[in-house]
Parts: sequence; structure tokens; C-alpha cells
Amino acid sequence: MDFNSVKTFDKNYIANTYNRFDRLFVKGKGSELYDEKGKRYIDLAAGIAVNTFGTADPLWLEAVTSQLNSLPHISNLYYTEPQALLAEKLCKRTNMKKVFFSNSGAEANECAIKAARKYSHDKYSKDRSTIITLKDSFHGRTITTLSATGQEVFHKDFQPFTEGFIYSEPEDIQGIKSLMDRSDVCAVMMELIQGEGGVRVLSKSFVQEVASFAKEKDILVIIDEVQTGNGRTGKLYSYMNYDIYPDIVSTAKGLAGGIPFGATLFGEKTQGVLSAGLHGSTFGGNPVCAAGAISIIDRLTDDFLEEVVLKGEYIKKELKKVPGVIDATGMGLMLGIETIKPAREIAEKALEQGIVVITAKNKVRLLPPLNISTEILKEAIEILKGVIEV
Ligand SMILES: *Cc1c(COP(=O)(O)O)cnc(C)c1O
Repeated sequence: MDFNSVKTFDKNYIANTYNRFDRLFVKGKGSELYDEKGKRYIDLAAGIAVNTFGTADPLWLEAVTSQLNSLPHISNLYYTEPQALLAEKLCKRTNMKKVFFSNSGAEANECAIKAARKYSHDKYSKDRSTIITLKDSFHGRTITTLSATGQEVFHKDFQPFTEGFIYSEPEDIQGIKSLMDRSDVCAVMMELIQGEGGVRVLSKSFVQEVASFAKEKDILVIIDEVQTGNGRTGKLYSYMNYDIYPDIVSTAKGLAGGIPFGATLFGEKTQGVLSAGLHGSTFGGNPVCAAGAISIIDRLTDDFLEEVVLKGEYIKKELKKVPGVIDATGMGLMLGIETIKPAREIAEKALEQGIVVITAKNKVRLLPPLNISTEILKEAIEILKGVIEV
């Protein structure tokens, strides 16, 4: 099929929900992608932080295909080794106590929300079920996770929403504390770096103060690590940059390195909340995805993550020199570049020059594969500088 036919089919038969870039990618290897004409691109987006070790990484491919050949799917009515191994690894690395596996970020958050309410209902009352989230957050596209998302734009078309979410301004410690004083509040849910909200990093003092006030009041702390998790920020999970111990952690995107997977991790307090029959998923914990995730998590060692931090610092340092860059935010390889030129225009111009970047609000967003080589990264940043420059 030529590109124009693909575009025509897409336009005629796919629900028009995406504002797609004008490119047809047909293959990739590591941090490089190729379009139908054979043009090479350097990938600084990794499929929105999904392809943790780039496209078709050899070790990941081996793990996934060997599982695909032996047992691609079995229901959760039976045990599988990849799930058991992965759960043990996640718990040991995080000191969380239990895991529930699903297929996406929204589902991982749905599970977190259900568990938080159940904890509070069991221990207090059915009236204690409100969850505080932050303005400019993003927690997913289901009705409940949209309701949790603190952005008006997402709320206008789909009423009625799931009740029981209230929103606080990030960094307004007095504001959030006064909401936490309400007797109906059971949890606070937040991303520590707001991804879709413009790669906004929450301050350590705000996060720690929220966490300690929550602990005093037995309000659960849910950290949405769907985008920030799995090594993206230079720690296995971003909360590890903040020295806090969450009650629930949700993750997805990069967890299985390119195939759909989600996980909700439960800490000391919440580990026993979900018992038999209370939650489930047909595909959740799929052995192929679990095997892929093991091949990712095993390689996110401290030494490897140190490199992620250094690469992130290099990008920030280089781009901050460029006339046309207003600011560079983020941690590790999750970066937001505020530019004088509109972000979308930069992303489109970058594609013409063979560089794949995405946007978040008014920023250019960089989420390269975590193992991108310094050589390729340098090549990409030099080209990107030219695109951004005014
Ligand atoms: C992407 C994202 C989600 C939603 O994940 P899906 O897999 O698209 O459902 C939720 N929270 C955050 C922070 C995200 O970045």
C-alpha cells in the first residue's frame, strides 16, 4: 500500500481521534525509525515512553518471541511463570508488597482508585471516598480516569462523570492540606512529573509534605507512574527521587518495552485490600507482556540508570544554550523544552530533518529510548538545535 492509500483508508475507516503527523513508519531498529521511502529518523519519542530499549531491541525480542512460541495466552484462572517472576522483581525492587497486572495506564489507575476506595470503606465508611488529584494532571481516557484528570478540556463533553474527585493546584501546600482536612477524603493521586501537562516537575518539598500529612490522616498516596516509571526519570520509579513510600503505584507505558501492559503496586497498608473476585482482567498479566517486562526491568540497573541521568543532563545543557529555548524541564530522559517557536511547528520541522519528537502542551517533549547511544543522541541534538533556533 502506498502512503496515500493508507491515509485514505485511515481517514475513511478509523475514528478520527488523532491529530497525526504526516508520516508512515514501516520499521525501526533501536533508536532509529524508517518511513515507507526508506528515510531514516532518530527516535526521541519512543512511542510516548513505551519503547524503553528502542524498537525491536534484540533481548526484548528474544524474550517476547520465545514466550509467544511457547504460551501466548492463558487465562488468569491458572498460574504462569512470567507473571510470578515479574511480580517478585517489581516488589523486591520497590519494597511494594503486591502487584495487580492489567493492560494500560488507565486500567492501572482504575485499579488504584478501586483499591483506595475499598481500603477506606472497609476501615472508615462509605462516605470517605473522595480522591484529590492535581490541576493539569493526566490519568487516562476512561470515564473515571478522565474524571480524575484535572483538566477542564477533558471534562466538557462526557457528563456525567464518576463522582468523588476534587482538584488541587500543584505546589499549593496550604490549598491541598485544607482539602485533605475534609473528612470525606480517602486518597491523593498525582504524577510527580506531569507528563501530558507539560513535563512539570513537582518540588520535593511539596511532595514530601503532602505525603507526610497524608500519612498522619491515613489518606492514601497514589503515585501515577504510567509515564515516569520504568527507568524514565533515572530511577526505577520517579517516587524514588522524592524519598517517599507510596501506598499505591500505577505504571504502564514503558513497562513491557513496546507491548500493552499495566501494573498497580500495593504497599504495606494496601496489600490486602483486593481479595478474590474484587478485580480482574482477561488479558492482564499476559505471559508475552510479562516476559517482555522482565527483559526490561532486569536491565534497569543502577549503573544503567546513572547513564540515563547523564544523557538527560547533556540534553538539557545543550538545548539551554540555544537562542529560541526558554526553558528545559524534566528529569532523566523525560524532558520538556519550552521554545519561542510553537512546539507543534518544531515537531513537524524536526520530522523533515529526520528527528522524531512530540509535544506536551506548549512544550517540545523528548522521551528517547533509555539506551540511545551517545553518538546518535549527539547527532539528534545538533539537528534539533537548528530546528529550534530563532
Ligand atoms: C499515558 C498516561 C496514562 C494513560 O495510559 P493509557 O495506557 O493510555 O491508558 C495515565 N497516566 C499518565 C501519567 C500517562 O502519561
